[in-house]
Amino acid sequence: MSTPYIFPAPEQASVPVRGSSARYAVSRIFCVGRNYAAHAREMGGDPNREPPFYFTKPANALVESGATIPYPPGTKNYHYEMELVIAIGAPVFRIKPEEATAAIWGYGAGLDMTRRDLQAESKAAGRPWDTAKGFEQSAVITDLIPAEHAGDLSKGAITLEVNGVEKQRGDLSDMIWSVAEIVANLSQYYHLGPGDLIYTGTPEGVGPVKPGDEITGQIEGLTNLSLTIGAPE
Ligand code: MN
Repeated sequence: MSTPYIFPAPEQASVPVRGSSARYAVSRIFCVGRNYAAHAREMGGDPNREPPFYFTKPANALVESGATIPYPPGTKNYHYEMELVIAIGAPVFRIKPEEATAAIWGYGAGLDMTRRDLQAESKAAGRPWDTAKGFEQSAVITDLIPAEHAGDLSKGAITLEVNGVEKQRGDLSDMIWSVAEIVANLSQYYHLGPGDLIYTGTPEGVGPVKPGDEITGQIEGLTNLSLTIGAPE
């Protein structure tokens, strides 16, 4: 007999998988801050001295690539951040980087959408980033590709355009902390497992979008991403 609830249980957040009718069910979304040197510098940080740090988004912040979403409330500086996304597929805790590959089930391309003005206020006040990062529809994602079909993602171009004009161009090899190092480091703090997505940080060139803008993004070897910004609600 299933558990009775006062209200219907929330819909399970999930992401499509290329070549499968089965979807990847999501429980948590972790995000790495400042993982490309040039972006760390444009955000006022020092890429040489900072260990990786993390923030999270709720699973129901996910939006599938191709969607049109309303310009969010509460911001006048709504930014894109194009990122490689890791999907964990096996339980791991306190692992070493060389053990990380076996824990990675697949990869996608994502956008860590950000209320940059609220993030700047939070940083200045020493407050949490939740309203800047963990808001509704802030985690855009393509379909996932199983790791064995995704090829070598230790290098390759990561790019983003707004209305066809290139804004971000980096290379996955520019990541300060590699995919394996991120999974290993995060596993020092959490029991990771199936359902955990990790957004791995963005290259330089972040910037604002406005209603009517079309964002496109590419990571070599993964599905192309797109997002249209609609009018505010
Ligand atoms: Mn980010």
